[in-house]
Amino acid sequence: MQAVNFRSFARKLSIHRKAFRSFLNKSEKNPPRGIDKITPLIEKEVWAEVDCLSCANCCKKMTPTFTKQDLKRISAHFNQTPDEFRKQWLQKDKNKDLVNKNQPCQFLNLKDNKCSIYAIRPVDCSGFPHLSKKKWTEYAYIHKQNIDYCPATYKLVEKMVERFGDSIK
Ligand code: SF4
Ligand code: SF4
Repeated sequence: MQAVNFRSFARKLSIHRKAFRSFLNKSEKNPPRGIDKITPLIEKEVWAEVDCLSCANCCKKMTPTFTKQDLKRISAHFNQTPDEFRKQWLQKDKNKDLVNKNQPCQFLNLKDNKCSIYAIRPVDCSGFPHLSKKKWTEYAYIHKQNIDYCPATYKLVEKMVERFGDSIK
């Protein structure tokens, strides 16, 4: 597993972003045969190569959405009511989802990139970046958003382009 090199990530992204987005657009409309079977295998390769603790970009530059259950669980941990917690830390986004007011996330320890509420973190955080959560055609649009921030998503798409790029029109 390698530490994330942000300079290299930014350089590669600037070179390949357009082609990778084009791959995501095309594969979303016309998925290569077998892509849903291969994605979980490629995901395993990605996690053998990417060290999230050297990154934490998702906690620094993005926000999870908080479900009602998240709110209940996390506020109880801080001896707050869900409403108190919501007023202190959260706001509604344009989709009316509850998201963090602050970036980086208030629960990120910036010294070691660890989540201070790891065991009870939002469900959205525990699954992020959801590399093989759904069928490719149902999730490619999320990879399109995440590729700009998440080196693991970038790596997944890079591997998909290597494997399926030639068969996509
Ligand atoms: S709750 Fe934890 S895992 Fe989720 S964004 Fe905040 S620091 Fe990151
Ligand atoms: S999930 Fe992506 S953005 Fe978050 S820490 Fe891991 S590589 Fe970085």
